[in-house]
Amino acid sequence: MPDSEVFKIKFMPLKKKKSEKTKIDVILESSRRDFLKKVGIVGAASVAAGAAVYSGYRFEKAKNNEDTIKVLTEDNKLVEIPRDQVKDYKPGLKVYQTRGREGIKGKKWVMVIDLSRCRNARKCVNACQDAHHLRPYEYHINTLVMQESANTPEYFMPKPCQHCDNPPCVSVCPVDATFKRQDGIVLIDNERCIGCRFCMAACPYSARMFHWQEPSATEADKDKEYNVELNVPQKKGTISKCLFSADRLREGLLPYCVSACPNGVFYFGDENENAVTNGTTKETVDLKELLKKNGGYRLMAELGTKPRVYYLPPKNRLFEFKKGPETEYKETT
Ligand code: SF4
Ligand code: SF4
Repeated sequence: MPDSEVFKIKFMPLKKKKSEKTKIDVILESSRRDFLKKVGIVGAASVAAGAAVYSGYRFEKAKNNEDTIKVLTEDNKLVEIPRDQVKDYKPGLKVYQTRGREGIKGKKWVMVIDLSRCRNARKCVNACQDAHHLRPYEYHINTLVMQESANTPEYFMPKPCQHCDNPPCVSVCPVDATFKRQDGIVLIDNERCIGCRFCMAACPYSARMFHWQEPSATEADKDKEYNVELNVPQKKGTISKCLFSADRLREGLLPYCVSACPNGVFYFGDENENAVTNGTTKETVDLKELLKKNGGYRLMAELGTKPRVYYLPPKNRLFEFKKGPETEYKETT
């Protein structure tokens, strides 16, 4: 199966009327060899056919201990197969790199950050650092203290990579290690990155970090396949930055930071559908209306970088600005 098609397939619950023979029953009556052919799983004794099949498998595995499980095939058919014929699907480096470059077809990911709600809880920062195996002082997203002028109040501003549609970081990379995908995400392939840091210099948002030292989880991650969409294992001498949690999007989940925020700061969604979902309330709203009603804007839009991150200004704040002890990371050792 072409890996780019994996995302199209979703697990659906099986609906079966009593006494009605479904396609599955018919299939199960066939010999095992014929059955495996019909569902398109060649050599199924060792490998399930792709990540979507694997998702269905995981769901069913957790659900019960019966001898068969239900999975979706490439062509969206729900089928039941013997449990012992399936094993966990683990993509190799080439698969990760191919699908990591292609992105998810038909999508244009977009993030909206409501500055009126940010209280510097830093849950987004922590969730991101955990997912990407970063040290407490290594950031893909950080909450900055902002103040427009001496007479205006301070506020917090979470700042990830803006996933620009016209990204200067990409055009300066001499080895095509950093790239823009069809779904709007800008990623880095650290198997290609030579650590020249041209991209860091070109980014006007200071969104990139350099691994000067051996990443903290080097030992724990040493046997893991490098995943471009997660940027794990991290590598000394290469660049790292926010990935819009491309690995989570592939599973149909919101980004790590968006889900972790307890204050409703983040919305995330698909510009093509004009819809974004709040990570805290899970409410899905009209993107254009949200931006229009609240005076949404983009950071340094005048540069022509066309960021995919929008901000809602810190108006009508519901709480007093307090610089907590958590505002800055302090090393204790
Ligand atoms: S914010 Fe910086 S690193 Fe991110 S896409 Fe734009 S220029 Fe590149
Ligand atoms: S540091 Fe890596 S990603 Fe950045 S420009 Fe150089 S090779 Fe490209």
